[in-house]
Amino acid sequence: MSENKVKRNVLLNPGPSTTTDSVKYAQIVPDICPREKEFAGIMAPMRDDLVKIVHGDTKEYTAVLFCGSGTICIDIALNSLLEEGKKALVVRNGSYSARACDVLEYYGMPHIILDQPYDALPDMDALEELLRKEKNIGYVYMTHHETGSGLLGPIRKAGELAHKYGAFLITDTTSSYAMIPINVYEDNVDFCMASAQKGIMGMTGLSYIIGRRDIIEKSKDFPKHSYYCNLYRQYAYFEETGEMNFTPPVQTIYAAKQALIEYFEEGEQAKWERHQRIMAAIRKGADEIGFKELLPRDIQSGLVAALIYPDDENWDFEKIHDYCYERGFTIYPGKMQGKGTFRLCALGAIDAPDIEAFWKVFKEALAEYNIKVPVKYA
Ligand SMILES: *Cc1c(COP(=O)(O)O)cnc(C)c1O
Repeated sequence: MSENKVKRNVLLNPGPSTTTDSVKYAQIVPDICPREKEFAGIMAPMRDDLVKIVHGDTKEYTAVLFCGSGTICIDIALNSLLEEGKKALVVRNGSYSARACDVLEYYGMPHIILDQPYDALPDMDALEELLRKEKNIGYVYMTHHETGSGLLGPIRKAGELAHKYGAFLITDTTSSYAMIPINVYEDNVDFCMASAQKGIMGMTGLSYIIGRRDIIEKSKDFPKHSYYCNLYRQYAYFEETGEMNFTPPVQTIYAAKQALIEYFEEGEQAKWERHQRIMAAIRKGADEIGFKELLPRDIQSGLVAALIYPDDENWDFEKIHDYCYERGFTIYPGKMQGKGTFRLCALGAIDAPDIEAFWKVFKEALAEYNIKVPVKYA
């Protein structure tokens, strides 16, 4: 990784992630109108690279770019891909799959929700039963990595079941793509999605849906729910002109170009090993302090640790956060209603020594605010 000219913050929040200086500086380019051929010449190979990350054949799979945060992909995939007369089926087991249900609700689209616990693997027999019973499911939707809890969803099985019953799988891989190796064929993924500020360690403002060309082509005639946020529209425009329908996030795309160079330089396997090294360092420190985790480790993604607040009258997340923040480490509150948790995430251009340095500061913070170590639970 390059030498740091910009102050380096270690972000342990679930994205945006710590970036390299080379990615930050890639945004500083001469002004350019994105309607110039030169700019389309950046996006075309980028679309192919994004498909290659999940091992798709670019004749069968394509990547469609959008200007927006990750949620734009949830919105677009769900609202664009439901055929007339069919229903969506969402496995709801965390805050991001709940967001997907909100989107369908918002557009008044027909859908069925399979509610599952946030802290256990979703029941695939229940999913199969629903698919068998409901004969007109268009797509099954499952979050790959529920970033709020850290749970890893069984997408391979969900995709297999979807296919068995004539549906396809849309999965939200925003917080796993380009981190956990994914193969669209082996993992039965028809559509996945991500955002540049997460796995590829780029900047915010660029998001992408990666999925099957044949289904996108077919969706030309599906009911429309949005003008700006429609998958076929953006796809068709790209195919025809090489450009985004509307103004792209120019500088973010330059950063993403550099981030992809660095992604392929590091390599899928080496990068995944680095994420695992980071998580091992997170767990080592958490164990030393005595933190309890929200989920058993064997069902976690290995990218997010959700730690339960200790029962100590002096515990105050805000104070600990501020102490760490002032020293260059960002920690993040949990997303679990009614349960006090905070999260440490293994994203970004960081490695195990950053985590060791973080725990040193974190322990100082505990001492500063008289929180007993090992921490106690009632
Ligand atoms: C980060 C994330 C998103 C996108 O969130 P935005 O705030 O819109 O960028 C979507 N799904 C998952 C699972 C995520 O972790």
